[in-house]
Amino acid sequence: MTDNEKYIKEQFAKANLYPDEIALSRLVMFYHLLVEKNKVMNLTGITEFDEVVQKHFLDSVYGLDEYMEEAEKILDLGTGAGFPGMPLKILYPEKPFVLMDSLKKRLNFLEEVRVALKLDKLTFEHGRAEDLGHDKRYRESFDLVLSRAVAKLSTLSELCLPFVKVGGYFISFKSGNIEEELEQAANAIKALGGTVEDVNKFMLPDSDISRSLIIIRKAKPTKKQYPRKAGTPLKSPL
Ligand code: SAH
Repeated sequence: MTDNEKYIKEQFAKANLYPDEIALSRLVMFYHLLVEKNKVMNLTGITEFDEVVQKHFLDSVYGLDEYMEEAEKILDLGTGAGFPGMPLKILYPEKPFVLMDSLKKRLNFLEEVRVALKLDKLTFEHGRAEDLGHDKRYRESFDLVLSRAVAKLSTLSELCLPFVKVGGYFISFKSGNIEEELEQAANAIKALGGTVEDVNKFMLPDSDISRSLIIIRKAKPTKKQYPRKAGTPLKSPL
């Protein structure tokens, strides 16, 4: 095992996560592809190995195990350079994932990663959530929808909840003070058929980085009028 693989293994173990050797080597490969492509394309502000492991890899997977185990089909909305979708896919290689983004260049990079890492059951969808949320192939068809650093919760709920099956989950990655954001999103979450089931707050191991996962269950179908047309969920949140 290389030093880099060993480092990831140790860091993940602190979070009670035990990636196998294939997963460890894939994470290291993903790191190298990411920093290499980052020289010619804006993918990440963080490039130091230790920092990428903590702030991108561990942050993407921490605290999700019970939801991942249950989910059959997973969507990462606004995946950017592949977070949280790619590290999760590497940890749960058997689960079908869709990584969605409105920026084609980033998805092209992720397709290169997919090929290099020999991952299957991983597809990419280019477009805006406001449009794709009405697409029959995707609407109310995921058990789990994840999103990190895409929009504030009121806006994000309109982008994400239409994709979730009734009984499934939308999990929003947040940090800092989330009380106000939650309050502002209460109306939107309800209007879209969701209900806040839990807010899991924790610190990433060996760090001062706090993270909240907002766990929203889809209780009822989303009305046909949602999501509204592209740009509206951001301009005038429900
Ligand atoms: N989730 C990643 C990237 C965050 S940047 C991370 O945590 O690092 C936000 C990403 O969301 C960008 O790549 C942007 O193209 C995408 N995005 C923003 N609004 C979107 C929308 N309405 N539909 C689809 N993708 C969107």
